[in-house]
Amino acid sequence: MSEENTSASTSTTSSLSGEASAAPTVCSLCRAPKIAGNCDLCDSSVCKNCLHFLEESTFSFWEEVPAELTFTNYCSTCQVEHVDPGLEKYQGIMDQAKEVVFAFDTQRRALPILKKSKDKVVIENCVDRDETIMRLAFRAVEQGYTGIIDATVTARKVRNEGYQKSAWTGVGLPANIDIERLNRTNQEI
Ligand SMILES: [Zn+2]
Ligand SMILES: [Zn+2]
Repeated sequence: MSEENTSASTSTTSSLSGEASAAPTVCSLCRAPKIAGNCDLCDSSVCKNCLHFLEESTFSFWEEVPAELTFTNYCSTCQVEHVDPGLEKYQGIMDQAKEVVFAFDTQRRALPILKKSKDKVVIENCVDRDETIMRLAFRAVEQGYTGIIDATVTARKVRNEGYQKSAWTGVGLPANIDIERLNRTNQEI
């Protein structure tokens, strides 16, 4: 994610400059004489230093991406007010997701479960096994849980314009697990 953070704050020269004739001729933020494009959120015309590009996949783990974070071009103001806090929040969930206790349905030993979700989470069309597991974990954190239990992760072959690739599906039940008790019993074994 840190790589995507970097690219998200890098300016880009946009192809929108072609339609600058009727639009303002100076950057609305820094008054630089050349407009590179418009902010997709507030529509202000800005230069290339004040225009920030957001990769489409940046927030792809979120079950629902907040509407203001679904665009591609942001001015510096919107970058600071919306994108940066969004990245921070997203990264916070990602960090917690990495700590999620993950148990497959083949798990034999009973886990010290404190609370279970009523509904299973299903994640489809992932590129590999690791991504599928991370997306399940991310969803658990979004729903306020610290674990995924009864998980299955499977792949099937799909044909995509002549070549074969795998599409991964993950299913799991978000749950809270008594980590302290789990660690204690781990040490006993
Ligand atoms: Zn500017
Ligand atoms: Zn803006």
